Formats: sequence, structure tokens, C-alpha cells
Amino acid sequence: MAQEPMARYRPEEFKPGPVGESDEDLARAAGQIASTIFHPVGTARMGADVAAIVDPRLRLRGFQGIRVIDASIMPTITSGNTNSPTIMIAEKGARMILEEMRRI
Ligand SMILES: Cc1cc2nc3c(=O)[nH]c(=O)nc-3n(C[C@H](O)[C@H](O)[C@H](O)COP(=O)(O)OP(=O)(O)OC[C@H]3O[C@@H](n4cnc5c(N)ncnc54)[C@H](O)[C@@H]3O)c2cc1C
Repeated sequence: MAQEPMARYRPEEFKPGPVGESDEDLARAAGQIASTIFHPVGTARMGADVAAIVDPRLRLRGFQGIRVIDASIMPTITSGNTNSPTIMIAEKGARMILEEMRRI
């Protein structure tokens, strides 16, 4: 941007700003401004197999009275964003708890 023909507009770098020009300078600047937007899911996978952490009713296998009701039970990540499916999991999980409370 410092070259002609842009120089006459006196553009100023906004981000990351004047950090230097070496590869090391730029790598350091990237590390300071970058952040992850990973959508981690599936650390307590739901399933009917022996390796699943929770069963299809979200109960922690091998324990009584503990459920996992969040994005961690997704067997695989959704193709779209994860917030709405997480709300759906919460709604279904709440309904499962109420159903079982009514039976007691
Ligand atoms: C940067 C970013 C952007 C995103 N943007 C979108 C988007 O635009 N649209 C979309 O659909 N999804 C988006 N997501 C994903 C969405 O936010 C998650 O999928 C969703 O919040 C998962 O809900 P959760 O309840 O499973 O986990 P979380 O929302 O992470 O809730 C976990 C909760 O547990 C608490 N906690 C953790 N450890 C403990 C502990 N030991 N004791 C007590 N509490 C604890 C945490 O503080 C947190 O409140 C985004 C995620 C990130 C990181």
C-alpha cells in the first residue's frame, strides 16, 4: 500500500499494524491476533455400542443418576453450526428427565 499509485492516499495499516516485515515478525503478529473458531463436540459420544459414553437416553453408561446433555454427546459433528442442535439436545434431554420423573 506504500507503493504508487496508493501512496498518495496515505493508507495506514490497521491490523496487525506496523509489526515489522520479516517472516518471524509476521508469524508473531499472526499468533497474537489469531483465535480458533473450532466447534468441539463428541467428547462423550452417544450410542448403543460398548464404546459409547452415554446411551441413547443420554445416561452415563455404568453410572446411575447422571446424564450428559450438551454438544459433547454428538456422535459426529453436524454439517451446520452446532448451537441449534445443542439446544435440541437440551430440549430432548429435559423431556427425558421429566418422563422418568413422572414414572417414579
Ligand atoms: C468462537 C465460537 C463461535 C461460535 N459461533 C457459533 C455460531 O455462530 N452458531 C452456532 O450455532 N454455534 C456457534 N458456536 C458453537 C456453540 O457455541 C456451541 O456448539 C455450544 O455453545 C455448545 O454448547 P454446550 O452447552 O455443549 O457447551 P458450552 O456452551 O461451552 O457450555 C459449557 C459450560 O460449562 C461450563 N463449564 C466448563 N467446565 C466446567 C466445570 N468444571 N464446572 C462447571 N462448569 C463448567 C462452561 O463455563 C460453560 O458455561 C461457536 C463456538 C465458538 C467457540
